[in-house]
Amino acid sequence: MLLELQNSILKMVAQGDELGVMLARLCSEVELLLPGAHASILTLDENNLLHPCAAPSLPDQYTSALDNIPIGPSIGSCGTAAFLQKSVTVIDIKRDPLWEPYKSLALSFGLRACFSSPIFGSNGTVLGTFALYFEEPRAPSLLEQTIVIGCLPICMIALESHERLQEHRRLAFTDVMTSLPNRAKFYEALQKKRSNDEWSLLLLDVDHLKTVNDTFGHAAGDDLISVVATRLASAVHPLPAYRLGGDEFAVILDETLRKPLEEIVDRIVAMARQPVKCNGHTILPTVTIGIARSNECFSVAETRHHADIALYHAKDISRGTFAIYDETIASVILKRAEAIRNVAEALNDNRIEAWYQPIVRIDTGEVVGVEALARMRLSDGTIVPAAQFHEATKDAHVAVNLTQHMIRCISRDVGNWLRLGIPFQHVGINLSAADFSGNDILQSLEKAFAAENVPLRHVILEVTESVYICEQNQNIANKIASFRAAGFKVALDDFGTGFASLTHLITVPVDIIKIDKSFIDHLGCEHAGTCIVEGIIDIAKGMGMRVIAEGVETLAQAELLVERDCILGQGYLYSKAIPADEMATLLERRGQRQDSAPKIEGAVQRRGGIRA
Ligand code: GH3
Ligand code: MG
Repeated sequence: MLLELQNSILKMVAQGDELGVMLARLCSEVELLLPGAHASILTLDENNLLHPCAAPSLPDQYTSALDNIPIGPSIGSCGTAAFLQKSVTVIDIKRDPLWEPYKSLALSFGLRACFSSPIFGSNGTVLGTFALYFEEPRAPSLLEQTIVIGCLPICMIALESHERLQEHRRLAFTDVMTSLPNRAKFYEALQKKRSNDEWSLLLLDVDHLKTVNDTFGHAAGDDLISVVATRLASAVHPLPAYRLGGDEFAVILDETLRKPLEEIVDRIVAMARQPVKCNGHTILPTVTIGIARSNECFSVAETRHHADIALYHAKDISRGTFAIYDETIASVILKRAEAIRNVAEALNDNRIEAWYQPIVRIDTGEVVGVEALARMRLSDGTIVPAAQFHEATKDAHVAVNLTQHMIRCISRDVGNWLRLGIPFQHVGINLSAADFSGNDILQSLEKAFAAENVPLRHVILEVTESVYICEQNQNIANKIASFRAAGFKVALDDFGTGFASLTHLITVPVDIIKIDKSFIDHLGCEHAGTCIVEGIIDIAKGMGMRVIAEGVETLAQAELLVERDCILGQGYLYSKAIPADEMATLLERRGQRQDSAPKIEGAVQRRGGIRA
């Protein structure tokens, strides 16, 4: 009979049945074998407190009164058995001193005798107690003792198997690196939320983690993730912070914190900003947060998506702080998504063309080079300038495809011009931040121009100042150096708009500086603007770099530039961007001959007293 009982419980353990159900079944089976007995199983926690686990025939009021009782040398039968780690037999609860503190409770439910044995774990620790109660004072029979002894190992197996399952479950829901609850736990918590409750979802992403990894090593990146995790968890305690993966975290804020949303978010942002030592390097981290508030008009999944959009938007316009989702953000993102779709389609349909704007020698009017600019042809033939689909290039995939397409167009056009003997010297190609992320930009440039027999000295790679300084990592510096080593010229575009430091120009040298139109606009109008242009020209020349003035629109500006020794200009005064065939005609007429001086490349030369 005992064997049958043991087998039936072991089967339940193997099936993974719930602990309470299994042990209640064990108690009931024992009671069938031992008429008049009430079986009870208590568990012991790590703080040595007892908790009712199964006692199907005892009144709930009695068992629940045993919850959280600490074990001790005279705490009834069970508390004492767990404490002394040996079986305790109380023949008469009314008279036994062990029951002094609890006897009125037991007697009020008609319980008079209780024999309890500790349930030992496989490592010898006490996991709980197994007890038989009787309603009259009595000693245990031999059969009762035998059955208790037979049940103890089964209780041990059930309790340990439950503990293991709990541990597996805990690990499945815990992020190993940070010990925070993980993505699975986050989704579980999110599923319990309802649209018409008041809550907000915060998605937090560490800024520039890739740069930290690249600059200081992966271990430093790991440390940074762990520190941000700890700071976030303490900022939102007692609510949990979840690590969703990589450097992304989430918090579901509800009324528990009783503080205005902005206050909590400001606290998180401020805590994250404190300097931190990561693998021996001091880092000043920043994090960006996207927030969406629950709204009965949107599902929980939509709110999650809104928080994503807000984070995406915040990364774009308010890095290091936060953005709360609203309709304006939604429309900006929708517009971008539309722009991305349009450019992707245009690339697919071969409707993106390379147009060219001349770079002119201001003093002679000769065309010394061209800058290639992307134009999108709509299905009705309308031409859309790049500025109007610039939004799309914020998508790294589109940006890379666009550059690759432009490289193909430009190498083909320049190859044609050279084969036809058209006087041509340089073409500028714009590179985006995304072009620097992959490994193959240099290779594809070299391949495309080699296929058209275009020597690389004809090619200038234009990098905006924001790309040049924003990603101050070694990757950009290395790539710029490798372009120059391969024979390309590198120009710093929009110079003056992005706060490039002058020391940066020493560590990451370039060949050409293109002064941004915003400075040229002020030329002659105000003293300060003129001084800045003069300063840039002098610094560039002193460092052996060429200077090109962008956005030259008036003769007065052109004259002022020449007076200040800047003789290369680009702008509407000379020409807007024009298609390749028109540019071929213009070059035929006004292109500077290879042998005439000066060129953008090469040593400083003088002609007509003007240094270019
Ligand atoms: P952003 O400022 O836009 O957030 O860019 P980011 O450089 O932080 O990069 P992003 O958030 O887009 O992607 C996270 C990067 O963090 C991707 C991966 O290189 C790196 N990363 C992901 N998981 C880990 C990790 O466990 N440890 C470390 N050291 N780096 C990680
Ligand atoms: Mg990040």
